[in-house]
Amino acid sequence: MQTSGASTALQWDLFEADLGEVGGATPLVTTQPVGVPGNDPAFQPVTFIPGAARTEDPVARSRRRIREILTQGYTPVVAYSSGKDSSALSSLVLDVAREMRLEGAPLAPIVVVHSNTGVEQPEITRLAADEMAKMKDYAQKHGFELIVRVGAPTLNASFPVRVIGGRGLPSFPDTRGDCSVDWKVAPNTRLLKQVFKEIGRRSDVRGSVVMTGVRQSESAARDIKIARRGEVAEGIWENDLGQLRASPILDWETDDVWTYLGLAAAGEYSSFSDFSEVMRIYRDAGGSSCVIVADMKMAQQSTGCGARTGCWSCTRVKSDRSMLQMIESDPARYGYMKPLSALRDFISNTQYDWSRRTFVGRTIDADGNIAIKADTYSPEMLKELLGYALTAQIESGVHIIGYRELVAIDARWSLYGFHPPFTALKMFFDIEDGLRMYPPTLERFPKTEVPNLGKLHVGTSWQDLGGPMMGLRDSVREMVGESCGLELKGLKNGDLVIDNESDDGIDVDEEGAADFIEFFGREFVEQQCRHDHPDWAAGYMTYLQYGTISIAKGKSFQVDETLRRTRWRQEHGLHGQQDLNELEKRVQASGEPFVATVATNAPRRRP
Ligand code: SF4
Repeated sequence: MQTSGASTALQWDLFEADLGEVGGATPLVTTQPVGVPGNDPAFQPVTFIPGAARTEDPVARSRRRIREILTQGYTPVVAYSSGKDSSALSSLVLDVAREMRLEGAPLAPIVVVHSNTGVEQPEITRLAADEMAKMKDYAQKHGFELIVRVGAPTLNASFPVRVIGGRGLPSFPDTRGDCSVDWKVAPNTRLLKQVFKEIGRRSDVRGSVVMTGVRQSESAARDIKIARRGEVAEGIWENDLGQLRASPILDWETDDVWTYLGLAAAGEYSSFSDFSEVMRIYRDAGGSSCVIVADMKMAQQSTGCGARTGCWSCTRVKSDRSMLQMIESDPARYGYMKPLSALRDFISNTQYDWSRRTFVGRTIDADGNIAIKADTYSPEMLKELLGYALTAQIESGVHIIGYRELVAIDARWSLYGFHPPFTALKMFFDIEDGLRMYPPTLERFPKTEVPNLGKLHVGTSWQDLGGPMMGLRDSVREMVGESCGLELKGLKNGDLVIDNESDDGIDVDEEGAADFIEFFGREFVEQQCRHDHPDWAAGYMTYLQYGTISIAKGKSFQVDETLRRTRWRQEHGLHGQQDLNELEKRVQASGEPFVATVATNAPRRRP
């Protein structure tokens, strides 16, 4: 049987197990047979032995639970975050697998899933990669199959494209926590779906059981969630998506976890790791030579999504104490993170610096008005952020922006008319050639009302500007379309556009991005990156033309409309960085039909 992997519902609980809060503990006691998924006639419930949980030590108890599930032919899908709880769980599962293999018992493959937000604290990224490599070595040494799968946010949801590309603001303490959905929940959901599919294809496996290291009584909020999910320590339980779950260490105390990891380190238990690196990170991030004290201290300072050492870019908290603590505790080892910390602080402290926001809304409402109020980051702020991030990347050695992200940012800046074509590429080359940009150290801006200057009436003239060729069309490619396979397609609104949608929704081709930047990048910057360029959307069109980017399935209409609006804005001097005083004057004249002003960099009308 394969569980329902097709659902895209949120699975926020998946990696919640680790890096949560510490609290008092109440042992879980259940006296009922548990975990009876209704859609598997062959399912044998794992029966709880009354009293056993009270007489077995925590390790023996959890090993028994794991073994019962493996014996039934299920593949455990272990959610690993590199925190203490999922480290203990992974170790227990891998050790039971080793034991069963030694006994010659049949054994389904073990799967470990891990997710990286792309802006993970670099020490955690390194720790997780090293520990998963040790897991693979352990499995190979003991002759059982281990599949490791790592998930990540989509390109468009990633920190560089979302924040620096200008899609949206970062998550702040008093705004929605989109980051945890985009960077944790969604990648985990996709990852599980992928694993269920992969395991479901195998005839030697009965099904997948997702195992998490969630523990009861870490916090009242978590206990409520556990109870709501009907989560139990014994056997298998089923979540409301029909997926099989197991929580073998649900009734462990914090002390049980540290004791187990300590004894594994001392060689009392067979384990894939000695966990010395896990303990080092807890000690250094918590600021205590005692790992348990450090763990408790970190519990007081967890991030917006409950992670103890979250993303280095996390602005859901006012200050990232665990990263600062590490830098202070051992500058020689952790000093490389200073540029990341400075960038984080700059973003956090400027949340209410309205001068860093764009005031021209992106959409035109049904009455033909553009809202003129502080919105997402201004084009100049986006440029600053790119410069700071690229500099931090060089100086810290931590990957932030790769070729794919750079092309995605550059294409977005062009598509929305934030900057002339290839501005992001120009900055990349400038920094490659030695320019360095550092975020200023600023006091936190106090919270103030969002400035709202009103509306500009612009009517619907943007829809017709320049005729059909102003949208998603490419006259040169269309002329040679037959030979290069380019086709036109009709949109629902009757517009014809070039058909550049990709089947798989991939927006930027990895290899194509590298080739474009390395072989053509400097040439395009030289030829086209200038403020008086007649068509700021030309950068986006060039990337499409070279096949470096493609439009996600079903998005041609949106791109066509965006291109029309951007070109209309350029005609009317409403593109790029705007002077607030000028905007104010225009708004003050509102009520009148919008009259285009001639901008100094007004574009030529396209043929
Ligand atoms: S650590 Fe912070 S930035 Fe990262 S997902 Fe959690 S709340 Fe968001």
